[in-house]
Amino acid sequence: MRIVGRIALGLVAVLAALAAVVLVRTVTFKPPAAADVAGIKVAGPVSVDVAGAAGRLSQAIQIPTVRHQDRAEDVDAEWTRLHTLLAQNYPAAHAAMAREELASRTLVFTWAGTDRSLAPIVLMAHQDVVPVTSGTEGDWKHPPFGGVIADGAVWGRGAIDDKGSLIGIFEAVETLAKQGFRPKRTVIVVSGGDEEVFGQGARSAAAFLKARGITAEFVLDEGMAVVTDNPISGGKAAIIGTAEKGYGTLRVTAKATGGHSSAPPADSGGVVTLSKALVAIAGDQFPLAFGGPGADMVKTLAPDAPFMVRMAVANEWLFGGLLTAQTAATPTGAALLHTTIAPTMLKGSPKENVLPQDATGWINYRIAPGDTSASVMARAKAAVGDLPVTLTWNAPPNEPSPVSSTRSWGWKVLAATAGAVADAPVAPSLVTAGTDSRFLTPVAKDVYRFQPLELSLKDVAMIHGTNEHMTLKNLEKMVQFYARLIVTAAG
Ligand SMILES: [Zn+2]
Repeated sequence: MRIVGRIALGLVAVLAALAAVVLVRTVTFKPPAAADVAGIKVAGPVSVDVAGAAGRLSQAIQIPTVRHQDRAEDVDAEWTRLHTLLAQNYPAAHAAMAREELASRTLVFTWAGTDRSLAPIVLMAHQDVVPVTSGTEGDWKHPPFGGVIADGAVWGRGAIDDKGSLIGIFEAVETLAKQGFRPKRTVIVVSGGDEEVFGQGARSAAAFLKARGITAEFVLDEGMAVVTDNPISGGKAAIIGTAEKGYGTLRVTAKATGGHSSAPPADSGGVVTLSKALVAIAGDQFPLAFGGPGADMVKTLAPDAPFMVRMAVANEWLFGGLLTAQTAATPTGAALLHTTIAPTMLKGSPKENVLPQDATGWINYRIAPGDTSASVMARAKAAVGDLPVTLTWNAPPNEPSPVSSTRSWGWKVLAATAGAVADAPVAPSLVTAGTDSRFLTPVAKDVYRFQPLELSLKDVAMIHGTNEHMTLKNLEKMVQFYARLIVTAAG
């Protein structure tokens, strides 16, 4: 009994010590990627003509700069109309900045700083929009290219993605230029003409900046926003993308002899081989890792989260597995923690009683930082083993972007301004979609992805979807943010 008692006592002591360690760590936890904005003096608010800005955003929406899957359907004259509209509506901005046009109607505006020794900042916003899915036009409360201003919002395709940013930037530059503001640091506005089709515009802008010998202090593009109901703390948080995933689609082809389906081969033919290969590849998921910008977001927002979340984050050594499982409980959360594998298209024979000569499947990958297209290919090849299939990239894949700093001066300026305008904590995260900014990586110290508008997780569906709209409150925040960012970073 004495020994049992001692063991029990010992166990209690160990548990008490463990609990004490966990508690102390929880109470003293400081998120590693939290924005240290001490020393950054954010410029004060400007006065924003919200009604005027809404009218100008409405005009921009009414010009359907739509990029189609088949580029022969694009109407180039719409880009010309948009360029003319910008010049008419923003005369002071056009007088202050030098304008150059590159491939795919891409525009580069340079607002020369008075101190050429300072590295420029680059603000990005693309001009093109995605089409409205045919058959859904009737679901819109207001016509998708009507630019209707109603119910406290500007409605239409591009209201947020990304004419909202384009107009926000121009409103800000126009306001500052009219006030006689002259930047010390050069401000460059890059407006891609074909972002939605992974086009040439941003690539040509990168080549243009490189030829000028420019390495930007930072680049800011779309990609993340102020989320009003983030799942970690439940409240508002300004989420800035510090990296974006790579993209690639793998084509898996099973060769077969074809022929009449009344006399199939013993192995039932190419469709079965293809199916086995797809099951093997999708069955070998990339391991989930609680690391990188996605995990940094959870850690950074933890101080505002319920006690249990804070305790788990502060004691990753003990609760790492739990954190991974919790974050990966939703598909969106899981996408932050690993490379995703999504089989999307299939092709067999053209007729039900014909055996296919080749059966093909397409798998779309979103490649997490840390993986590469080569490691994806190697994993897929290992998964299929000696199955008679060929694996090829459908188009040259995009590698994941590097992860930008959460320590640099650029990050501090951005985080301080975003935090001030949004009145919310700021956290980094991983963008799981693609933006034009990835092409500017070679000409920038850091690349960030953020629009200063407040969206709920539910609102995100309207981007590329139905009823896209920019509330006037968000439009004001956009103008306010870009103006204050320019003065803080370049004033
Ligand atoms: Zn976009």
